Amino acid sequence: MQYPVYLQLLGTKNVYAIQGPSRFYECSTMGDQTLCHDVVATTWPERQRILDMVADDGPWERISREAFMHCWNDRNCHMGSSETSAFEVREHVELAPHTTFGIAAKARWFADVSSIAGLREALNWSRQRGVELFVLGGGSNMLLHRDVDALVIRIQMRGVEVLSDDGRRIQVAVGAGEVWHDFVLHTLDQGWGGLENLSLIPGSVGASPMQNIGAYGVEIREHFAWLDAIRVSDGALQRFTEKQCNFDYRESIFKREEKGKWIIVRVAFNLDRKSALRMEYGAIERELQHLPEAKRTHRDVSEAVIRIRKSKLPDPAIAGNAGSFFKNPTVPKNVANALLSTHPKMPHYPQLSGDIKLAAGWLIEQAGWKGHNRTTHGVHDQQALVLVNFGGASGKEIWSLASDIIDSVKTEFGVLLEPEVNQVGLDS
Ligand SMILES: Cc1cc2nc3c(=O)[nH]c(=O)nc-3n(C[C@H](O)[C@H](O)[C@H](O)COP(=O)(O)OP(=O)(O)OC[C@H]3O[C@@H](n4cnc5c(N)ncnc54)[C@H](O)[C@@H]3O)c2cc1C
Repeated sequence: MQYPVYLQLLGTKNVYAIQGPSRFYECSTMGDQTLCHDVVATTWPERQRILDMVADDGPWERISREAFMHCWNDRNCHMGSSETSAFEVREHVELAPHTTFGIAAKARWFADVSSIAGLREALNWSRQRGVELFVLGGGSNMLLHRDVDALVIRIQMRGVEVLSDDGRRIQVAVGAGEVWHDFVLHTLDQGWGGLENLSLIPGSVGASPMQNIGAYGVEIREHFAWLDAIRVSDGALQRFTEKQCNFDYRESIFKREEKGKWIIVRVAFNLDRKSALRMEYGAIERELQHLPEAKRTHRDVSEAVIRIRKSKLPDPAIAGNAGSFFKNPTVPKNVANALLSTHPKMPHYPQLSGDIKLAAGWLIEQAGWKGHNRTTHGVHDQQALVLVNFGGASGKEIWSLASDIIDSVKTEFGVLLEPEVNQVGLDS
């Protein structure tokens, strides 16, 4: 049985959200009174009642979640909060389909969380049982090294809300569970500019500030307004400004000092109908050269980025991967100059700090790893920065390959590569 199941008692306005064999939410009407209950079955007859409800032979009709939520909200039902929760815990859930690497590993407990109330319920659940909590978005930036002995919560908060619009500039708040690329397409449909260079990045909106996602010369910090996050220790809601997030290249406080302490539930962005097109990456300019500059639109840039990404990056649906496995390293100027004297063609990008950013993909390729194949896994043959699970690789095997690459680049260039992908369950 797939829970939750939403039901209506035939001939009445009573609706039910069955969360599992021992729990349901009930919203019933008696005369002009509405009663809302969270029913937890503790005895066998009570559990049997729930099983009877979901068996297809009773006076119950299946309804959609939307129909249930409509009744629930319409009658102003509360469950210790102004939001309903739909929190149901499953056990021993395979995580491979929930991550783009597709590595087999099981979650000891697993729950979808689609509201702040549900999230707080999950926090209580894990606290009461002394179980750790692990947050999953789209699973596109993690390598699982083992089964996850925790309550894995998949963030599903939805919704896009325009907070202000002066005819040109828009501030929009987005639920953490929205799919990032779908949101980018939505902004383009509305004629809002700013996020077009970040098209086709996999994952959720909620994870986008975690590493200040970036591509083709743009990072989200440039359009970030604020985010709301729930504190894991006590469920408190806090708003973080751009400054408080302390964004850096593929970094934020949520990946560093505040790691594991917050769950992002909503992110707000500042967008602009007339924002300048960002085409400093040669590949975008080449893709758009058939269009006169004055006629190019945010949508054109997005479509160019999508074409470039599709031609360069492996599709996780075909070959498991998590995008760039390593960050581009930054080194002091004297180190870069010493390398340039022996490798004059080495790509290098001066930073405002005076340091020089190097291209990790180039270093890996020069060290001979591009296309390296270990049967179940290897290095992508078009993009050396991407490690690939061809099928059946374990997290440990991928990590062993990553470690060999790190050692080899260190030996050859004296440069230490750092993984960009989050390591889950790696022995320290
Ligand atoms: C083919 C491919 C291409 C990619 N290209 C790019 C790129 O161009 N630029 C780029 O920056 N990234 C890129 N990535 C990496 C990845 O898509 C992004 O980092 C993305 O933001 C991850 O989102 P997610 O929801 O999948 O996060 P997940 O992988 O689910 O989670 C990543 C981390 O964030 C935590 N987390 C997730 N959601 C929340 C939340 N709501 N609150 C608190 N913590 C949370 C998780 O616990 C985990 O530690 C690419 C990945 C792939 C597979």
